[in-house]
Amino acid sequence: MKTLDLIVPCYNEEEALPLFCETVLPIADSLSQTEVRFIFVDDGSRDKTLAVLRELATKDSRVQYISFSRNFGKEAAMLAGLRASSADYVGIIDADLQHDPHLIPEMLQAVSEEGYDIAAARRIDRTGESKLKSVFSKAFYKIINRISDANIEEGAQDYRIMKRCVVEAVLSMPEYNRFSKGIFSWVGFKTKWFPHENRARTAGISKWSFGGLITYAMDGIVNFSTAPLKISLFFGSALSFAGIIYALYIILRTLFLGTDVPGYPSIICAILIIGGFILLVLGVLGEYISRIYMEVKNRPNYLIAETNILPETREKK
Ligand code: UDP
Ligand code: MG
Repeated sequence: MKTLDLIVPCYNEEEALPLFCETVLPIADSLSQTEVRFIFVDDGSRDKTLAVLRELATKDSRVQYISFSRNFGKEAAMLAGLRASSADYVGIIDADLQHDPHLIPEMLQAVSEEGYDIAAARRIDRTGESKLKSVFSKAFYKIINRISDANIEEGAQDYRIMKRCVVEAVLSMPEYNRFSKGIFSWVGFKTKWFPHENRARTAGISKWSFGGLITYAMDGIVNFSTAPLKISLFFGSALSFAGIIYALYIILRTLFLGTDVPGYPSIICAILIIGGFILLVLGVLGEYISRIYMEVKNRPNYLIAETNILPETREKK
């Protein structure tokens, strides 16, 4: 009998969790060929999520949970789940039922019988999303695919089921700054995409703000591409070249025609443009250096405060 671990990151999901179990447990029961276990990762929730998980675990031995000492973010929660799992197939699914659990049997079949390594959901519509968010998100995919070596499928979601070998590949990437969309596509493997409709959250509220999404997009670009550095280099060189030509022109003109004092506008323009440009390049450098700093510190991505997963099963891998 093959095993499937479903990783469920949870941050303040006390209302969503009972609904989640109500929907997903029967689906798990219907998989006759596969033994399903759940790894709920409580990402430092401030509501009763942990209490709900403890309760679920006492009622159902398939429920395992990990609870962080504080909120470390969904990336850290997914990483903890992947590290804790030892199953043949590993899935990731949100707790808010925005990821249609009825896809699980088909997804599992794709990896277990149809020869795919990954079965992943891809969003096909953007209903219930603001126009501005859609525009930014489209631009993000265009840019990142142009400048990085990870080919990120537009609308690719974290909702997926992977074979053990893919999980090992993902875990073999040691970076501290984890941008899962990039990591999942960077590792490659044969993927079957499942079109998936946007659904409303069952309960609770989304944890994303617009600012958060912008930071997330920037993270993705800086983590998977050094193009911004090259662009800075290119514009810096072009500007210097233009500067040299202009300086030559001024020198020659002064030699042959003498100087005329007026020139304030051109000087101030040059100062502003070049000054602004230098700050911009420094900012880009700063983004990379801050990431190097975080990588070098080599801090853990998360700290576990409580779990019901025994150390042996976790190390087995
Ligand atoms: N989540 C998490 N840590 C966080 C934020 C979110 O574990 O810091 C979980 C959350 O509980 C949910 C999933 O990640 O199961 C997706 O979060 P959310 O629904 O807020 O994002 P959206 O669906 O709006 O992209
Ligand atoms: Mg959601």
